[in-house]
Amino acid sequence: MLHLNDDLSALDYVGVDYLRELQLARLRTIVKHAYDNVQLFRSRLDALKLKPEDIKSLTDISKFPFMVKTDLRDTYPFGLFACPMSEIVRLHASSGTTGKPIVVAYNQHDINVWAEVMKRTFASCGLTKQDIIQVAYGYGLFTGGLGAHYGAEALGATVIPISGGNTQRQIMLMRDFGTTAICCTPSYFNFIIEQAAVNGVNLKELPLKVGVFGAEPWTHEMRKRIESGSNIKAYDIYGLSEIIGPGVGIECHCQNGLHIFEDHFYPEIINPETGEVLPDGETGELVLTTLTKQAMPMIRYRTRDITRILTGKCSCGRTLRRIDRISSRSDDMFIIRGVNVFPSQIETALLSVEGTLPHYNIILYTENNMDNIEVDVEINEELFSDKVRAMEELQHKLTSAIEGIIGIRVRVKMVAPNTITRSEGKAKRVLDHRNK
Ligand SMILES: [Zn+2]
Repeated sequence: MLHLNDDLSALDYVGVDYLRELQLARLRTIVKHAYDNVQLFRSRLDALKLKPEDIKSLTDISKFPFMVKTDLRDTYPFGLFACPMSEIVRLHASSGTTGKPIVVAYNQHDINVWAEVMKRTFASCGLTKQDIIQVAYGYGLFTGGLGAHYGAEALGATVIPISGGNTQRQIMLMRDFGTTAICCTPSYFNFIIEQAAVNGVNLKELPLKVGVFGAEPWTHEMRKRIESGSNIKAYDIYGLSEIIGPGVGIECHCQNGLHIFEDHFYPEIINPETGEVLPDGETGELVLTTLTKQAMPMIRYRTRDITRILTGKCSCGRTLRRIDRISSRSDDMFIIRGVNVFPSQIETALLSVEGTLPHYNIILYTENNMDNIEVDVEINEELFSDKVRAMEELQHKLTSAIEGIIGIRVRVKMVAPNTITRSEGKAKRVLDHRNK
């Protein structure tokens, strides 16, 4: 049994055969635990005449039914818990846009696992006990703040539990306390970069060197903007409350895909239409099974995130498999005139053109019974006050960059700096005003 003080990063490098054996043993245990304790899971298996003992190899999991987000809503609040309430030490919940939130539970073992994977997450970003980590994810029912907090403490780093918002104070403490790493959403960090400049603070001269960014999809182009605007290394972190919170996967210094903590989370990629499991390398929907979570095990949970498992070894030496960065979620996709569009495609196009700022809105509207897209994007002060001709050229460039990627006509509106609402948490960039 490993303890938190042991060198957990060793688990990132274990032999693949050992890892698969460990996964299989854990999978069999957790499926049995879920079958014995969760009514919904047991009745589904019974209906399919499946037993936990039917798992003889890792691939046998593909015979088992999926779990989906509505399962959490339908069993609200405690229907998926696999431990008595007396054992549960923490609840988190995510506010659904409509109706009831989804509730997730942890016993003490689960909290330890979470701290462990977050500790390994920070280690993967090159952080040590020497670091000062500013946790600017929200603390509360949202898993971001406390998840990062426990991991940073387990690492032995110094934690600044500032939570989200109050940007002036974020910048002041960052400077006065010598923060070396920050955790928040990428859109909020963009706002911090901007506000620091307004306050006359040069982020590039501060000790800040690492950002651990997640909780919303962001593109490669957004990363380049963040890194060049602040001189830090921006790491992409992946997680979701249903599985544990942040700490499911993280990039290493190669920034070439996110290593999944496979000893705790078993990944599969499926064809979202048919449910069929796809081989490594093919793009589809990520499905995760929690191998060690006791209070609320999730077996084959459909994340609705589109990615692929990368093949080949990472040059960092970790044996944990990697997934491609998730810049699109099925939930964010919108359909316009029969075409599937991801906001990340528009972000990629916008930020590949020089002169734009990383602040934009995508507005969907109906005109003459036809659905249309308008993209409002801020452009820098210099260009904005420039001559009409330069503006026209830029607009043309932006329009063709977007149309070239998504294949349908868009209206691009260039707006002055600071006109688009900033976010202190997850940015909401798509505004759907279409007639329903
Ligand atoms: Zn790596």
